[in-house]
Amino acid sequence: MRRLRKTDTNLNNESIEGWNVIRKVAPYLWPAGETGVKVRVVLALAMLLVAKLISVATPLFYKHAVDALSAEADPALWLGMGAVGLTVAYGMARLMNVGLSQLRDAVFAPVGQRALRRLAYETFVHIHSLSMRYHITRKTGGLSRIIERGVKGVDFLLRFLVFNMGPLVLELLLVAGILFYLFDVWYLAVVVLTIALYVWFTFAVTEWRVKIRKKMNDQDTEANQKAIDSLLNFETVKYFAAERWEADRYDRAMEGYEQAALKTSYSLSFLNFGQSFLITSGLVAVMVMAAVGVQNGGLSVGDFVMVNAYMIQITMPLNFLGSVYREIRQAMIDMSEMFTLLGQPAEITDKPGAKPLAVSGGTIALKDVSFGYEAERPILRGVDIEVPAGKTIAIVGSSGSGKSTIGRLLFRFYDVNDGALTIDGQDVRDVTQESLHQQIGVVPQDTVLFNDTIYYNIAYGRPDASEAAIIAAAKAAKIHHFVMSLPSGYDTAVGERGLKLSGGEKQRVGIARTLLKNPPILLLDEATSALDTDTEREIQAELKAMGQGRTVITIAHRLSTISDADEIIVLENGKIVERGKHEALLTRNGRYAQLWQRQAADEEEAA
Ligand code: ATP
Repeated sequence: MRRLRKTDTNLNNESIEGWNVIRKVAPYLWPAGETGVKVRVVLALAMLLVAKLISVATPLFYKHAVDALSAEADPALWLGMGAVGLTVAYGMARLMNVGLSQLRDAVFAPVGQRALRRLAYETFVHIHSLSMRYHITRKTGGLSRIIERGVKGVDFLLRFLVFNMGPLVLELLLVAGILFYLFDVWYLAVVVLTIALYVWFTFAVTEWRVKIRKKMNDQDTEANQKAIDSLLNFETVKYFAAERWEADRYDRAMEGYEQAALKTSYSLSFLNFGQSFLITSGLVAVMVMAAVGVQNGGLSVGDFVMVNAYMIQITMPLNFLGSVYREIRQAMIDMSEMFTLLGQPAEITDKPGAKPLAVSGGTIALKDVSFGYEAERPILRGVDIEVPAGKTIAIVGSSGSGKSTIGRLLFRFYDVNDGALTIDGQDVRDVTQESLHQQIGVVPQDTVLFNDTIYYNIAYGRPDASEAAIIAAAKAAKIHHFVMSLPSGYDTAVGERGLKLSGGEKQRVGIARTLLKNPPILLLDEATSALDTDTEREIQAELKAMGQGRTVITIAHRLSTISDADEIIVLENGKIVERGKHEALLTRNGRYAQLWQRQAADEEEAA
């Protein structure tokens, strides 16, 4: 939450500049090189202009129809039409206005939808490109809501700013001009004063309301994040019988929302009443002036009716100015949150002109690597490791010594602070991340699956793989038999994060999809979560088979599984304290021997 607040202040300070946001949206509506889109935009704007001209002329037909009917006037003809003709023309004008507006919406809709889709796509791609560091600090629920609200904001802006606010201003100008031309400057003055007061009042009150709305938004996000976090951890909640605690926490967040929502609704009533007061005052003032004019004989009854029609015509859309303005402000905030996210630089990026990683054998070298997630806390200090092509090294050490960190550096989730990490002589910082990720297969401590079928999850390793290849991978990972025993076989859904499968089954699906990927380099992060000994042993055998002919780094917790590694590296506090083959290390009787004896004793005890 503290993080979120920080972003909010930034927003208030700089990013809410509406034009900035509009400038960012504009290229989506006027995409370079897409003539079809541009034609649609021009057509829609032309229809808009014609519709407005017709709509402004409509009261004129009305006025002349009334004049033609009123007893004291000459049975005057306007444009050669009598009262009936004028009334029909009045109806036609109204109809054309509506028809053109609908047509305009239809012409513009594909432009808007395409812009939305592209924006959502770009934000999604960008979020994926952001670094690990960003992802683990940011809450996923919060992120997806930022996209959702941002895209909605753009949608709103398109529909209302372009096709309501713009036309409204145009219409106001036209009507003001007509009133000035047909009557006198006082009518114009009253209309201008009314609208100026109205706009000032609306904007001022709305500004104040936006702050309340922002608070409401924050509370909403907070309650949502709490709910999502709690639901994602539902198992833990059950383990600790913490349903009540979770519900209370959620309720407290919702209470804040309740308060903010009430304030929002009260302030809306105030705004609505104030607006009505101003509009009605202006309307009555103009009509009184017209009534006096009719009594003095200077104006016709038709003029009185027309003044009323114009006033209604311009004040009706003004009625929703407040909510539109508020929504636009809100949309601006939401969009600027999204654009801030889009502008968030990725920590790890490809160098300009980075080449794809060319793997010949897959020799991995860490040269004097130092790294810390935070500057003040070093995790790895001067680590030197070389894994010759096709060999297997194992990294052991107590929990927190930095074993998994080495894997993350290999995958370039983070960059080293000092030293270098190379594959076949190429620094991982000099090659494209995509090629790097393609060459390394990872079986993590805890395989997390997509909420889809087993087939989909295995095929994720190589989406273009044939069914036969997928089944072969499943067989090699010794999961085919199990899958076939399920009623839906490969079409079995695995549940969110793969929760419907056991730890061992998940692990095997993970192995199958890595086998399918068939990378020259493997990173095996041994499961710490205890699988039962048999399953553990079988999976070990499968991992070992998978390592044949590849360069393998195993992060090991059980020493018995790595005794035949080509080299074992013992890491303590981010430093290599011992290295060598299993037997040699045992003979040395150092840290490794100590770990080995402790584990042997533990296993004996367990047995
Ligand atoms: P284990 O055997 O328990 O998996 P490990 O040796 O693999 O431990 P690492 O995961 O490499 O340990 O973590 C090394 C240290 O870095 C730990 O003390 C951990 O708290 C810290 N650490 C890990 N990830 C982060 C992070 N994203 N930000 C800050 N510190 C981190």
